[in-house]
Amino acid sequence: MGVRVVKFGGSSLADAKQFIKVKDIIKAEKSRRYVVPSAPGKRFSDDIKVTDMLYECHDLASNNKDISKVFNKIIERYNGIISDLGIDLSLDADYTEIKEKLVNHASRDFAASRGEYLNGKILASYLGYEFVDPAEMIVFDDKGVFLLDETVQIMRRRLKNIENAVIPGFYGAMQNGKVKTFSRGGSDVTGSIVARSVNADIYENWTDVSGFLIADPRIVDNPKVIKVITYKELRELSYMGATVLHEDAIFPVRTVGIPINIKNTNDPDARGTMIVSDDTAEEMSKYIITGIAGKKGFASINIEKAMMNSELGFGRKVLEVLEGYGISFEHMPSGIDTMSIVFNSALIKGKESEVLSQIRKRVNPDHIEVERNIAVLAVVGRGMRKTRGIAARIFAALSHARVNVKMIDQGSSELNVIVGVGEQDFEEATRKIYEMFVLSGEE
Ligand code: ADP
Ligand code: ASP
Ligand code: MG
Repeated sequence: MGVRVVKFGGSSLADAKQFIKVKDIIKAEKSRRYVVPSAPGKRFSDDIKVTDMLYECHDLASNNKDISKVFNKIIERYNGIISDLGIDLSLDADYTEIKEKLVNHASRDFAASRGEYLNGKILASYLGYEFVDPAEMIVFDDKGVFLLDETVQIMRRRLKNIENAVIPGFYGAMQNGKVKTFSRGGSDVTGSIVARSVNADIYENWTDVSGFLIADPRIVDNPKVIKVITYKELRELSYMGATVLHEDAIFPVRTVGIPINIKNTNDPDARGTMIVSDDTAEEMSKYIITGIAGKKGFASINIEKAMMNSELGFGRKVLEVLEGYGISFEHMPSGIDTMSIVFNSALIKGKESEVLSQIRKRVNPDHIEVERNIAVLAVVGRGMRKTRGIAARIFAALSHARVNVKMIDQGSSELNVIVGVGEQDFEEATRKIYEMFVLSGEE
């Protein structure tokens, strides 16, 4: 019998009702042996995630303010779940210990990690599974860099003789023993690491949507589900803001080809999305594109200089200046006498005039300016390689909708086309591209 690793996100474990669904799912398949929970998420739209409350406790404590009010709300949430499930478990000793550590200035990562830790204890008790603390298995070096090989070795040994376990998501520990978390949404990464360590046949990632959708459901009405997507495509989309799965969650499983299945806790029979390697992605999408995603908050430095194209080292000099100021760029569309560098606008905050004057000094441009409030969209699809005129179609759809396109750039992999628009046009641009490739692709 194969092994499945199942990860449940915050909304899948937000209250006792959700825990009941989760147990039904796990018990329906004997192969669902290792379970990775997130901290309790939102029960309704303006609810607060436990993780956010823990960050708040940390911030209060670091200003020497009282954390009791917020911390009591956290206790209430967990105790509410325990009593609604009717399980015989008390976390009082944990609450006392955690509160004391928070008050005594435990690290931000430690604070955040307790959300998964406590939820894991409840889930383990409810399922009758062993609780295994990832702080003993998931290793980061002392700079905070995650160490995959060491982790896999340790985890493999630790889980070898354990039939069923609950392993909280989101955190591990550095070699000096201090708790360290992944970035937000990082329980997805934990699930992937566990899947790799136990050689799972499949990594099921259970969330609150019936799979990876072609576009963000908060922007496009009722977008269609992507049935099969490759790791590469997914990486492009999640990097660009489709937050269903953490952008780093594919690395541990990709090299060994363990497929990820995105599933919906609230609709367990829906097939969801399969994330697979290039060569196993037989089932092609019905549409030319696989998905669209995007983010706001970019800026670009636009440089003009006559004969730029023939000036040896021009680009290098500009990029060296940016490197010196710690600005990593995302895209660099260029013309014969123009070059633009698009980057996250937070990176230039407070140093804009210095950066520009350094560039002026190095390359003496005819004109240089910074443009802000840019949104970048990625249109991604393995089917685009075989189709001509994608960029032209995107351009036509957008200009028809009077969306001003600031940049359009085809990645060298031919797996994606990147489009830059003003932030105010972001949602409309997403909808227009969706219409162009998905709705008009319907027979
Ligand atoms: P979890 O708490 O289960 O980890 P997340 O909130 O991290 O869940 O991810 C699921 C959410 O991602 C969905 O509820 C949806 O609002 C959002 N989302 C953004 N883009 C997409 C997309 N392309 N397809 C599906 N969901 C998306
Ligand atoms: N609880 C963490 C967060 O809110 C990690 C996760 O949910 O994956 O970011
Ligand atoms: Mg998530």
